[in-house]
Amino acid sequence: VLFNKYQELKGNIRVMCRVRPVLDEAEEGEAAGIAFPDTKTSSQIDVTGPEEKSSLGAISRKVLPFEFDRVFSPGTHNEDVFGEISQLVQSALDGYNVCIFCYGQTGSGKTYTMSSADGMIPRATHMIYDTITKLREKSWTYSMEGSFVEVYNEELHDLLAEGRSSKKLEVRHDEARKQTTVANCRSVALDSADRVEAMLRQAQGNRSVAATKANERSSRSHSVFILRLAGENSATGERCEGTLNLVDLAGSERLKHSQAEGERMRETQSINKSLACLGDVIEALGRGSAHVPYRNSKLTHLLQYSLGGNSKTLMFVMVSPLEAHLKETITSLRFATKVH
Ligand code: ADP
Ligand code: MG
Repeated sequence: VLFNKYQELKGNIRVMCRVRPVLDEAEEGEAAGIAFPDTKTSSQIDVTGPEEKSSLGAISRKVLPFEFDRVFSPGTHNEDVFGEISQLVQSALDGYNVCIFCYGQTGSGKTYTMSSADGMIPRATHMIYDTITKLREKSWTYSMEGSFVEVYNEELHDLLAEGRSSKKLEVRHDEARKQTTVANCRSVALDSADRVEAMLRQAQGNRSVAATKANERSSRSHSVFILRLAGENSATGERCEGTLNLVDLAGSERLKHSQAEGERMRETQSINKSLACLGDVIEALGRGSAHVPYRNSKLTHLLQYSLGGNSKTLMFVMVSPLEAHLKETITSLRFATKVH
């Protein structure tokens, strides 16, 4: 084992919460009552719930406490967040399959945390690249390959595709090796820091080309960055294979079916289904259930060998600090508590 194993406190599923800051003047004064007992080492978040009327007619608001492995208050930076997960990221070099999700309503900070220029994807990729370079001195040679796919309406799309390909992407499981490949999906060797940059730019470009309203599409699809690592020690003959999956989930806001028609309706159904299915899978794993319903959605099918078994899972639940989003905030925190 090359790195300290990620602390085994509560099995292999972790949940962390991040509250984004108030962004501009328009949002000032709109903040909901979200309190943190201790901003530095907090694992609790207290949310002041909606107004309730007692039987005597008095109006009050209850404080709802939620507890997670870690809570990041609005003042924290992506660097602080990465500091908390870097060991988990390193464990992919030890041969683990790791999955990190960002869950939350649209506008809560998923993409900012995961895929922005200083988010978890570039930080993780660069750290692994640096570590691999250092490990050469210890006779370890690693290869590092990346793929980037989007799950939209229960179909996979290649975010690294060059030109238009008519071939459909397909998930293939190698049951013996407990590994997944995506047929017809491009995989790029990330053998220099420049290649990492280029790959991220290309994925970003493809994501926006894929739709005229890029933001809308990206909030209705899941994007999955898959980093495959294979190492071999020339002195000892040891080998190891690990995968790091970084997932920016579709917005968790439940659109009412009655409000959506046609294409929107189909999107809404796929999102609701796949997020519910992800919750069911993580919950089943947390319970140690013998039956885990991976096959019920494309996303969990794709991630089957990176969820459960010997793998490590982290869910970030992102929330907005605004009163207007209070209902979704509570729904998201309850979802995250359920899988915790
Ligand atoms: P989502 O992907 O969940 O829809 P975004 O990541 O796009 O949300 O965030 C919505 C807006 O809030 C963006 O303008 C983003 O830059 C900003 N934002 C989100 N989180 C933070 C943060 N922690 N610090 C500063 N700005 C943030
Ligand atoms: Mg987003």
